[in-house]
Amino acid sequence: MRYPIVIAGGGTAGISTAARLLREHPSWRGQVAIIEPAEKHYYQPLWTLVGAGAAPREATVRDEASLIPPGAVWIRDAVAAFRPEQGEIELASGATVAYDALVVAMGIQIDW
Ligand SMILES: Cc1cc2nc3c(=O)[nH]c(=O)nc-3n(C[C@H](O)[C@H](O)[C@H](O)COP(=O)(O)OP(=O)(O)OC[C@H]3O[C@@H](n4cnc5c(N)ncnc54)[C@H](O)[C@@H]3O)c2cc1C
Repeated sequence: MRYPIVIAGGGTAGISTAARLLREHPSWRGQVAIIEPAEKHYYQPLWTLVGAGAAPREATVRDEASLIPPGAVWIRDAVAAFRPEQGEIELASGATVAYDALVVAMGIQIDW
């Protein structure tokens, strides 16, 4: 598959970037793909209040599907490898996604 714009990671940064691109360029609907394996999105800043006992943990979770901006294509898979020379990403499923422009927004890995 091929999309002009591919965003790796559908967290706060990936979702915001897709929403802004599509808001400024409505004709790009269907041309912006978000690669994100998680079904749930966690609003991490609120965890500070969860830790303090001031907010319930459940308040920090949303269905990823409800956050994908209209016009964006959600690829429910994980990035396994970047191949910038070919302009391609390899997915965990083994599929390949080609792009013209790539946004990498995969956050950080929290190592407790
Ligand atoms: C306790 C706490 C408090 C915080 N408070 C604040 C605050 O007050 N203000 C603030 O600005 N920030 C705060 N942050 C930081 C905040 O969480 C980040 O600013 C924000 O979540 C970063 O967004 P992101 O999209 O870069 O990462 P995330 O929102 O973490 O999204 C990364 C996404 O990439 C996906 N991903 C990972 N690996 C892959 C892969 N191989 N392929 C595809 N997708 C992948 C993940 O599933 C995830 O959905 C806080 C963080 C914590 C933990």
